[in-house]
Amino acid sequence: PVRVRFAPSPTGPLHIGGVRTALFNYLFAKKHNGVFYLRIEDTDQNRYVPGAEDYIIEALNWCGIPFDEGVGKEGKFGPYRQSERKAMYKDYAQQLVDTGWAYYAFDTAESLDAARKEAESKGETFIYNHTNREKLVNSLHLNEEDVKQRIANGDDYIIRFKMPVGETIVLNDMVRGEVKFESSLLDDKVLFKSDGMPTYHLANIVDDYLMETSHVIRGEEWLPSLPLHVLLYKAFGWEAPEFAHLPLILKPVGNGKLSKRDGDKFGFPVFPLQWDNEDGTSSMGYREEGYLPETVVNYLALLGWNNGDDREYFTLEELIQTFDINKVQKAGAKFDPAKIKSMNHHYIQQVDDAVLAEQFMPILTSKGINEPIEKVTKIVGIVKERANFPNELWDLSSYFFIPPTSYDEKAAAKQWKPTTNDILTQLVTVLQNTEDFSSANIETVAKAWMEEKELGMGKVMPSLRLSLVGEMKGSHVFDIMEIIGKEDTINRINKAVT
Ligand code: GLU
Repeated sequence: PVRVRFAPSPTGPLHIGGVRTALFNYLFAKKHNGVFYLRIEDTDQNRYVPGAEDYIIEALNWCGIPFDEGVGKEGKFGPYRQSERKAMYKDYAQQLVDTGWAYYAFDTAESLDAARKEAESKGETFIYNHTNREKLVNSLHLNEEDVKQRIANGDDYIIRFKMPVGETIVLNDMVRGEVKFESSLLDDKVLFKSDGMPTYHLANIVDDYLMETSHVIRGEEWLPSLPLHVLLYKAFGWEAPEFAHLPLILKPVGNGKLSKRDGDKFGFPVFPLQWDNEDGTSSMGYREEGYLPETVVNYLALLGWNNGDDREYFTLEELIQTFDINKVQKAGAKFDPAKIKSMNHHYIQQVDDAVLAEQFMPILTSKGINEPIEKVTKIVGIVKERANFPNELWDLSSYFFIPPTSYDEKAAAKQWKPTTNDILTQLVTVLQNTEDFSSANIETVAKAWMEEKELGMGKVMPSLRLSLVGEMKGSHVFDIMEIIGKEDTINRINKAVT
């Protein structure tokens, strides 16, 4: 059975690269009727950031890609927070020492520093690996008694993986195809730290095994760790899961990985939700900027994946049906802030007018406007075609709620002719006699009157719009009249002509 995980470290807000990883895991799980679980990898206590875990969970929920098992949704593989599994990892590390796959190292920070300096003086870089390990202080060549004594004395130690020499590790990544690594080029990574905590590598492999992970789908930045991970499975005698390393997400301009700082620098969100930084500033979030979760999910799905055709719009359900991990590309995917914005425009159009109106009501209240929801719904229905975000609704529709207090001077100079006052006053009389004030009927009545008086459109419509809106913008004039109603229409025109 398919069991996949999203395994973030709570070191800060989840950025959209992380959300994309979660999404691809989610889609893969749902497509194969599997389980998508959340594991919090919090073994690095120095990098722990309070609030990050809650943020991650809230972000997944907001995106509409909730996990089936995880923190707060305990299943039979819990606990799902690595710090709560702490007691267990030591035995696994010891098991590797016992089988000769790992060793104790007692090097002090000072001695490692000295080794580093010495290498530097020869123009080399120090690596704790098979060529250097013999010269360092570890259980590979200390005698057994000495090792026992040091441990009994409470000396600080760590456990390192004994990277084999001369092995070629070959495996098939679902995205990258065949990948090869030479073990001799790799270092002896730390598995267990002096603070009693496992490192990411050990905890990650042990938990992926214990939690019966079938596929590991994660970002490309973890590819260099893959040979170590594969060897760890081998060392434990466990079958490794399948791997898929997702392509990098690149900056919108120039090259290189999209960083957490790029968003605020270039003015678009890189986080799903707003994040309040320690220095009192906050970083923008898609949610707070008025993006819909549908937009974010659809856009992120296309970062590194496509259906092989030009199709761009997918609901979550359609993504589950169509998503194919084998079609994920290797090349980095450029993040395009303009594209996600235009997608939001598309998705805003799909939202029910009544639902948008509901969200709009508090904004209206804050402007001191108190109108029935039915009227607001109508207005939203008319202006939303120009909106990318719900928070643009006010600017697009304020003239429905507030009569103009001034008139665009340039437009007025051009449109207000000596005859205009007289024409509009006549129109007021026509409108006063119009019972049915629906847009279609006012339009018919007004046009018949213009024909009768032989008035061209240009003589009436621009100045009428100016009277109603104050500027040359806005929706279809007769729609505006219907919505603001007969009384307000007449008042606005009368005010403009005086
Ligand atoms: N804790 C790692 C991270 O923060 C997980 C990497 C993996 O999926 O193996 O991304």
